[in-house]
Amino acid sequence: MSIPTVTLNNGVEIPQLGLGTYKLPPQDTRDLVLRAFDAGYRHLDTAQMYRNERAVGEAVAAAGLPREEVFVTTKLNNAFHAHDDALAAFDRSLEELGLDFVDLFLIHWPLPAVGLYTEAWAALEEIYASGRARAIGVSNFQPHHLRRVLDEGTVVPAVNQVEVHPWFANEEVRAFDAAHGIVTEAWSPLGRGAVLADPTVARIAAAHGRSPAQVVLRWHVQRGDVVFPKSATPERVVENARIFDFELSAEDMAAVTALDRGERTGSHPDEEN
Ligand code: NAD
Repeated sequence: MSIPTVTLNNGVEIPQLGLGTYKLPPQDTRDLVLRAFDAGYRHLDTAQMYRNERAVGEAVAAAGLPREEVFVTTKLNNAFHAHDDALAAFDRSLEELGLDFVDLFLIHWPLPAVGLYTEAWAALEEIYASGRARAIGVSNFQPHHLRRVLDEGTVVPAVNQVEVHPWFANEEVRAFDAAHGIVTEAWSPLGRGAVLADPTVARIAAAHGRSPAQVVLRWHVQRGDVVFPKSATPERVVENARIFDFELSAEDMAAVTALDRGERTGSHPDEEN
């Protein structure tokens, strides 16, 4: 099944659905990524912090797909916000991945207590200028962090990867992103699984003959966000990609959006350090 793309603010196209790899054990990652490629996935979301860049890169190599057909994102680890550290960490990522360039490189967390995210952003701008990242962006940035990047930087981030799911709709950040031409990527799009037991989601799923996960992922893509659900179960990886052949009605969309209860599964971006 073919997966649609979203166009970033520099013209680069990103597949709207990818495979998340957080907490995938390196020994399982390669096989799972290969299964995902078979199911039509062409977008992988990893990070220095996940310690599986090597396995992700091995899977990309083993798949033998043309490089331009695969979209690989990785993220700068928290310890490396200082300019030279960021450049060196990026070099290590390319080496681990076995790639000459990545498609998207993100600052993983703003770490306001450390206070170096605009310095890290300057390093990402240099990496972007060198052509070794086709796009650069941020993750877990609140509007006040993004405002500093927009004021002090010269490149507008292509994406902001933040927590979004039916129990945490994160509307303020999504609206800020949209107003500035920044694509929102929704991390933990399934709320790490908990939201799938919600009765409203179950009712809509039954009405469409779909699984709760498919309904939640479909809600995200109809809102325009980019998603990369994670599952270590191959059958679920396949199921999660089968969301482009049905549509939620305006009523379904509103019912899922109404589930928002401001409940994060992860840290608040101002507190993580
Ligand atoms: P998720 O919302 O994708 O949920 C994953 C869990 O949902 C699985 O472990 C499984 O228990 C369940 N699940 C998945 N598919 C299912 C299905 N079809 N049916 C039933 N249950 C199913 O959670 P996640 O892994 O935290 O987030 C996805 C990706 O987002 C990560 O792998 C990572 O790439 C990214 N992420 C980024 C950040 C960040 O700070 N930038 C933080 C967390 C996650």
